[in-house]
Amino acid sequence: MSYRKRVASFLCAACMLVSVLSVTRPVPVHASSLDDQLQEARDAQAELEKKIEAVQADKSKAIEEKALLDQRNEMLRTEVDLIQQQADETEARITELTEKEKEQYELFCKQVRQEEERGTVSYWSVIFKATGFADLLARMDFVNEVMDYDRQVIADLQQTRQQLSEEKTALEQQKTELTSSQKKLQQQIDEADALIQEYENTEAGHQALLDEAEEDEARIQELIRKQQQQNNSGNNGGGSGNNGGGSGGSSGGSTGGYIWPTNNTRVVTSPYGSRWCPYHGWESHNGADIDASYGSPVLAANSGTVIQAGWNGGYGISVMISHSDGITTLYGHMSDWNVTAGQTVSQGDIIGWCGSTGNSTGAHIHYTMYKGGQTIDVMNYLPGYIAYDW
Ligand SMILES: [Zn+2]
Repeated sequence: MSYRKRVASFLCAACMLVSVLSVTRPVPVHASSLDDQLQEARDAQAELEKKIEAVQADKSKAIEEKALLDQRNEMLRTEVDLIQQQADETEARITELTEKEKEQYELFCKQVRQEEERGTVSYWSVIFKATGFADLLARMDFVNEVMDYDRQVIADLQQTRQQLSEEKTALEQQKTELTSSQKKLQQQIDEADALIQEYENTEAGHQALLDEAEEDEARIQELIRKQQQQNNSGNNGGGSGNNGGGSGGSSGGSTGGYIWPTNNTRVVTSPYGSRWCPYHGWESHNGADIDASYGSPVLAANSGTVIQAGWNGGYGISVMISHSDGITTLYGHMSDWNVTAGQTVSQGDIIGWCGSTGNSTGAHIHYTMYKGGQTIDVMNYLPGYIAYDW
């Protein structure tokens, strides 16, 4: 490099501080499988949309349509979760970048202070103090190194600020998307609930729902029978049981060690047993409807073996647990499940989340207890329940 060029590059370095600040560097794209999952969830919804359109016109297919709406809502809920995850990850990167920006800015300030102390003139004085041409070149190298370092500090700071600004924009977008998806989900859940409500209000619809409930019961009885056969043949993997866990044991109101399947509420909107329906006369309810809020955890009332998890006819998404005392519990209309058939669970484990899937007209937990092929009064196992509207 000629002397002239070196001086030129040094002089240019003086204006780098200005020019470098306007340089926009490409920010690495966060290759994320979250994006792929999000796309899958959206594709699945579009697919379900077609199926829904195909049955929508036929009012007699309301149950089928509700199941499809539930599945679509389930996919939208997945979408909401994924967007939430994306926003969480963006927020974590913003925290990281803010920390980095702070460090880089401190370094930059330190450097500016040093330059102020040194004064721009001192760069020249370093050069003018050269004792000869070789010394001048050595001094030029030193000055250039310092300038390179200065430029790098500024460039790094600038890049971090650029990234930070882009991540903040991304977060804003994700939050907007999240809000609109949540709103859409709530609307879709309400629409699905309204569909069953309207259907139940028609004579044919009411009968169809009763028929389905009967089919469900036959299938459930068969499941319980199979599990009991397995238990009798000494193949009992049903956990250690937790009988007597409740204080007092045989004292009045003993729950046999069973806890509430939710910590969210103690309100029961519809009890076990016969109830008067103003439109249909006396009807029997095989469980209790617990007024838990949408998305709140559903808990295993006791330890046991899961014998069913997932879609279960009119119960929508349900879980059934076989307990060592011969009782089987069923938790219906959930928005999602968290266990698989055959799995052993402990009391209080989260087995799913409250929802309104299946033949349900609003978020709640339908809770049934079976013993010896019969339903039993589940209200005895819900100490301190609050009756609402019955
Ligand atoms: Zn119910």
